[in-house]
Amino acid sequence: MMANHLVKKLPKKEWDITIVDQYKTHYYQPGFLFLPFDIYTTKQVKKNGEKFIPKRVRYVQEKIDLIQHEDNKVILEKGKELPYDVLIVATGTKIAPEEIEGMKGPKWYKNIFDFYTYEGAKALRNKLREWKGGKLVVHITEMPIKCPVAPLEFAFLADSFFKNKGMRDKVDITFVTPLSGAFTKPKATEALHYLLEEKGIKEVTDFNIERVDYENNKIIDYGDTEVEYDLLVTVPTNIGDAVIERSAMGDDLNFVPTNKGTLQTLQHENIFAIGDATNLPASKAGSVAHFEAEILTENILRYINNEPLKEDFDGHANCFIETGNGKALLIDFNYTHEPVEGTFPFPGVGPLQLLKESRSNHMGKMAFRWVYWNMLIKGVHIPFVSATMSEKGKHLETLNQ
Ligand SMILES: Cc1cc2nc3c(=O)[nH]c(=O)nc-3n(C[C@H](O)[C@H](O)[C@H](O)COP(=O)(O)OP(=O)(O)OC[C@H]3O[C@@H](n4cnc5c(N)ncnc54)[C@H](O)[C@@H]3O)c2cc1C
Repeated sequence: MMANHLVKKLPKKEWDITIVDQYKTHYYQPGFLFLPFDIYTTKQVKKNGEKFIPKRVRYVQEKIDLIQHEDNKVILEKGKELPYDVLIVATGTKIAPEEIEGMKGPKWYKNIFDFYTYEGAKALRNKLREWKGGKLVVHITEMPIKCPVAPLEFAFLADSFFKNKGMRDKVDITFVTPLSGAFTKPKATEALHYLLEEKGIKEVTDFNIERVDYENNKIIDYGDTEVEYDLLVTVPTNIGDAVIERSAMGDDLNFVPTNKGTLQTLQHENIFAIGDATNLPASKAGSVAHFEAEILTENILRYINNEPLKEDFDGHANCFIETGNGKALLIDFNYTHEPVEGTFPFPGVGPLQLLKESRSNHMGKMAFRWVYWNMLIKGVHIPFVSATMSEKGKHLETLNQ
């Protein structure tokens, strides 16, 4: 996204742009939610990353070993050095199941799965194709995680998947979270709790996992609460890449301390950060990275021209929440406004409903894959959706009720 934005703004004669990524394949991660239920195929969630790199931009496919910030250099795994004037850190976040005792043990991908990786989602798809039922536990290890609504969506989709297979009565679904409710924000938590109840999905809250007892199929928390499972679908601890730790640039979870308004890192004025790699109190979501990219482009140009940076990023996030049976909710919020009901993007007209289940929201969620490959990655502005959150059409007064 940033390369696609900057290539149009930075004069060719003065600036070289390089992208470094360790992998050849770029994954559409929101599709990992649908892969286990055979709604998407493997082909629909991955493409060759090079396809999206603009012509003028150099693409280096290699792992970054170190960011040597005191010398303004990036050191690649095979030893090559890439000097920089401006660096954008976009190394994302990944799962670390090894952080919890017993999670990545002998039962990993046998009856304990993640769906946050391509390998996990595919292995889980194969498991669900033949699973005969029992106790399904959908579990979040700790916050923050990317796309914090994805585990809930997984539970909702599991409900309709088993209903459609005619075996819902053979499956007991429990949603286990370290939070005190279904989501991080009160209004949305209320709506999502209601949906869990309606679908007969049990909820275990404030569960701070200590270990997985894989021999007895139980997860156990620090207060000795136990939850039994036959199939555990967990979202392990999310951490930033190890290169951030090696380069002494991160917090405890390897996220990069970043100014929440300007997206400049707190340590170095010529290093900026975007997306899941930051420590911002915004959702770790593709939509957030997309909004950030518009603001970050402007701030990089300002930095280069010695102008003051704009503190414009407001934490804007926009997420569809798939609720199963061809319906979805939509939430739109930022650092200061939690999700509320209303219409989006046009006040009163919609066509999308906020915080309410509808078929058009589901269509929006399904269209998101096309939007991702054809607009988001290419840095194309989404018509009528601004980088900062619009208050229009939102029933913000309901927050005080
Ligand atoms: C199951 C699931 C469902 C989701 N659903 C949604 C949704 O509905 N809506 C939404 O907006 N978002 C959703 N997301 C979140 C979204 O996918 C991420 O927020 C988004 O991809 C973040 O982009 P990023 O560029 O910050 O990180 P990433 O897309 O993870 O990219 C990071 C890149 O950095 C590279 N990298 C890391 N370390 C190194 C290194 N040392 N050397 C070289 N390269 C390196 C990686 O290879 C990777 O290509 C979902 C995520 C998951 C897992």
